Amino acid sequence: MAANAIEIRGLTKIYGGGRHGPERHALRGIDLDIPQGAVFGLLGPNGAGKSTLINILAGLVIKTAGQVTIWGFDQDRNPRQSRASIGVMPQELNLDPFFTPRGALEVQAGLYGVPRRQRRSDEILRMIGLEDKAEAYARTLSGGMRRRLLLGKALVHHPHVLVLDEPTAGVDIELRQMLWENMRRLNHEGMTIILTTHYLEEAEAMCDEIAILDLGQLVARDSTANLLGRLDAKTMILQPDGPVQTLPEGVGMEVSQRGDGALVIRYHARETPADAVLSAVRRAGITIRDVKTEQADLQDVFLDLTRRR
Ligand code: ADP
Ligand code: MG
Repeated sequence: MAANAIEIRGLTKIYGGGRHGPERHALRGIDLDIPQGAVFGLLGPNGAGKSTLINILAGLVIKTAGQVTIWGFDQDRNPRQSRASIGVMPQELNLDPFFTPRGALEVQAGLYGVPRRQRRSDEILRMIGLEDKAEAYARTLSGGMRRRLLLGKALVHHPHVLVLDEPTAGVDIELRQMLWENMRRLNHEGMTIILTTHYLEEAEAMCDEIAILDLGQLVARDSTANLLGRLDAKTMILQPDGPVQTLPEGVGMEVSQRGDGALVIRYHARETPADAVLSAVRRAGITIRDVKTEQADLQDVFLDLTRRR
């Protein structure tokens, strides 16, 4: 078996064009390997192309160019096997309102050709906490229940790879915990998990490796630990008590002064502790009236990674 759960080469998607309106380049030649057994995070701002990539993996969007291999099966040459290897929990709540949770799971299993005796709707209903609602119409389910049902549907055919597109966007803490627990357990049982998110805490809590997409291009691909290492950039904003004669100086500090007189000091917390920054400020003879620090977040990483483009 291939060591990579997913291999993507030169993946390109152009929406529209011709009589479908202006062209939109959603993916611009992505190369990406996702190792087996990983919990892999696909991060990026809105419009980066995350859902497009995932929907191509799921077979819901037709790629314009490139090659996708899922669990060793080329998507074009072995469409059936590659599709059977992956389950996708989509971003949108696209449930048929006339199905009950049990019905939806059974229909999905049928679509994937799972023989009746291999179906495990009860087990899945239990896992997603919907056994009580097994016979309720989807339209009577809450948003959170629908999301859980989407997770259940992604699992009916025992896929090797589970993909979740923004599973916790806008969900309450309880549901997020439940989704995280399920992801961890499934991964522990050997399933490769790919999730998109724009919550850094989620990526930090869940993912071994991360790829960052921006404007249809891969701008980073690293272990979570390495990527978070880049994230210790901090900014301290100081209001001096009076005019500043000399700017503070110190190792690993980048100092500038704003129009309103405030000092903006950028530093990396690991190399330069906040204490060292404050000492440098005192050495420069500056008395501080107010101080505040800003921690880098994912947005800063995006900015950092995309500034050069
Ligand atoms: P993300 O999931 O990262 O927010 P998407 O993959 O949804 O990004 O979108 C990437 C780009 O492709 C965006 O510019 C979006 O407007 C465009 N796009 C997505 N789906 C379609 C579509 N069905 N038709 C035309 N453009 C689309
Ligand atoms: Mg999306």
